[in-house]
Amino acid sequence: MPTIEPPALSPTLALAFELIRRPSVTPDDLGCQDLMIERLEALGFRIERLPFGDVENFWATRGHHGPLLAFAGHTDVVPSGPHTHWDFPPFEPCIDESGMLRGRGAADMKGSLAAMVIAVERFVTAHPDHHGRIGFLITSDEEGPAIDGTRAVVEHLRETHDRLDYCIVGEPSSTDRLGDVIKNGRRGSLGGVLRVRGIQGHVAYPHLARNPVHQALPALDALAREHWDAGNAFFPATSFQISNIRSGTGATNVIPGDVEVVFNLRFSTEVTHEQLMQRTEALLDAHGLDYHLDWTLNGEPFLTAEGELVEAAVSGVEDALGHRPALSTAGGTSDGRFIATLGSQVVELGPSNATIHQVNERVRATDLDDLSRVYQAILARLFVNGTARP
Ligand SMILES: [Zn+2]
Repeated sequence: MPTIEPPALSPTLALAFELIRRPSVTPDDLGCQDLMIERLEALGFRIERLPFGDVENFWATRGHHGPLLAFAGHTDVVPSGPHTHWDFPPFEPCIDESGMLRGRGAADMKGSLAAMVIAVERFVTAHPDHHGRIGFLITSDEEGPAIDGTRAVVEHLRETHDRLDYCIVGEPSSTDRLGDVIKNGRRGSLGGVLRVRGIQGHVAYPHLARNPVHQALPALDALAREHWDAGNAFFPATSFQISNIRSGTGATNVIPGDVEVVFNLRFSTEVTHEQLMQRTEALLDAHGLDYHLDWTLNGEPFLTAEGELVEAAVSGVEDALGHRPALSTAGGTSDGRFIATLGSQVVELGPSNATIHQVNERVRATDLDDLSRVYQAILARLFVNGTARP
């Protein structure tokens, strides 16, 4: 298939190409942040490199007073898998004949990073003395354990009392066309690993054994049917899902000694994770199970119901693209969960998520230029037209 060669590229696409060429699989950055830092330093940003463990992060700010809008994102990508599964090599970006930019990270989220940098370049050139402050919070560990990435940078900002009023996370939020959906929150995620103990034995002598599968099933059924809450205007009802059940020796004549059940709750702001844990354990207790339960809180729910940022983001999309985006809290967790703990208003706004984490990841090339105009329009809404609170 014929492809467009670099000389024809817009500034946003040229930068996206340079980022995608670096195979920065989590937690590697491979110079992506250097590229961004070089561009931001030229605009007068102060850069703070914040490496933690083997994760590269940086925090950059420009301006001296007023509210701070930060662009947040990650330079790492998920592995490509075998290159032979791709129509085009994953780390050799190209634009195919249907106008799609192809390559690992095109949508998640090197395209957004390029759009942010170019938006800020244009905005700062047009308004060198803008009010407010502009920031960048960039990590190379969003797709991995996410411990030494945004979470660690957020703790650093908390300690240094640096303000972060508004944050736009560049995660791919769009569904059918660019800017149709802005994520203004995410559900919480609570995971559990349940081990129900029984007594192993021969299937022909059940009176000498205690079958943990039989004991667990009514409790699991009750958990699956439980009405946890009704959700609210921003969140769907909390849901409980079993993802794995393991038991048995493989033999057909052995009653297993235990059963392990892995489950996850995606929860709204109508319940707390403590309440979910208590209710789950009360229900297991009521079924008389001998069990052990390990919990992992993957993320608290967060919500930016309204405010200057949501207004500016919705208006920015309308200014740049001519249509009004819907607000949504659907989807998995993101680094927004950490940033929101600073009390910041947080939205996620990026390109289409149709092919993220897949082979042949791609995004409409012109969408990235349009995304850059959207980000610039939001900056203008906040810092030129004065939507932001002083
Ligand atoms: Zn991402």
